Amino acid sequence: MAARILDGKALAARLRAELRTRIETGLAAGRPRPGLATVLVGDDPASHVYVRNKRKACEEVGIANVHHELAAATPPAALLALLRALNADPAVHGILLQLPLPAGHDQHLALETVASGKDVDGFHPLNQGRLLQGRPGLRPCTPLGVMRLLAETGVALAGKRALVVGRSHIVGKPVALLLLEQNATVTLSHSRTEDLAGEVGRAAVLIAATGKPGLIRGDWIRPGAVVIDVGINRLPDGRLTGDVEFEAAAQRAAWITPVPGGVGPMTIALLLHNTLEAAWSPPPG
Ligand code: NDP
Repeated sequence: MAARILDGKALAARLRAELRTRIETGLAAGRPRPGLATVLVGDDPASHVYVRNKRKACEEVGIANVHHELAAATPPAALLALLRALNADPAVHGILLQLPLPAGHDQHLALETVASGKDVDGFHPLNQGRLLQGRPGLRPCTPLGVMRLLAETGVALAGKRALVVGRSHIVGKPVALLLLEQNATVTLSHSRTEDLAGEVGRAAVLIAATGKPGLIRGDWIRPGAVVIDVGINRLPDGRLTGDVEFEAAAQRAAWITPVPGGVGPMTIALLLHNTLEAAWSPPPG
């Protein structure tokens, strides 16, 4: 069997086009222009690339972007003061604090300082708690992107065995909760899991989010499975690759995401989606 490719790049472009139309229509009806503040602290080159891409995507769909770039030596209190000022700014509907922060900053405190209604990354404990309870709130972007890709396959999740490999707060755990919300039968695995191969072999839906290139062997995949590879790993030769052995897995899976061009582009599209939600349909509280 040769898997069908889940083209995240194309789906993300479609989502951005839909968002642009919604924003144009809303603005014409007198709604305020959605605004995203991006906050970048320090000189991490990868973070600069990520933030540039997010800002460019805002511009493309008609979201106003205010960018704040702080030196690595910025005192933590100054960052918190900026976040509080953005919380109070009515033109700012979403705040994206690019991670990681330089040493000396308390990442948890900074994320908790962002108003939960402007937390478009979905990392605030209030939003994560609401996700746990199945109540409305802003959801993390990469997990939302995973769910949109799954929806694209048309495969019903209810009752299906879904395996999530990786249990981080930003990917694995929220993906597991979103799958549970869709009534999948969810297993959450991690580096201490015994017999990962056996777990993978039973999964009708597999989400890999470990950051370990090729960890999931192609011949482990259950025939007909849907495989979503969140991993983005740079090989010594500079190429990007996922956590799943793509070629061999594609021989067995029904659907599979490529890396790059799978989950990655979806994350930014869902960030724009969350900004629009925060601006025009804010969750309660
Ligand atoms: P973390 O490093 O925070 O978490 C990795 C998880 O993988 C941990 O739970 C760890 O288990 C688990 N793990 C590590 N080794 C194994 C193993 N041998 N067997 C089973 N589980 C293992 O990573 P993130 O969740 O932040 O990111 C995961 C990947 O997704 C990375 O490649 C990252 O670049 C990518 N990513 C992609 C995004 C996108 O937009 N496409 C966005 C965010 C991340 P344990 O808890 O036991 O240590």
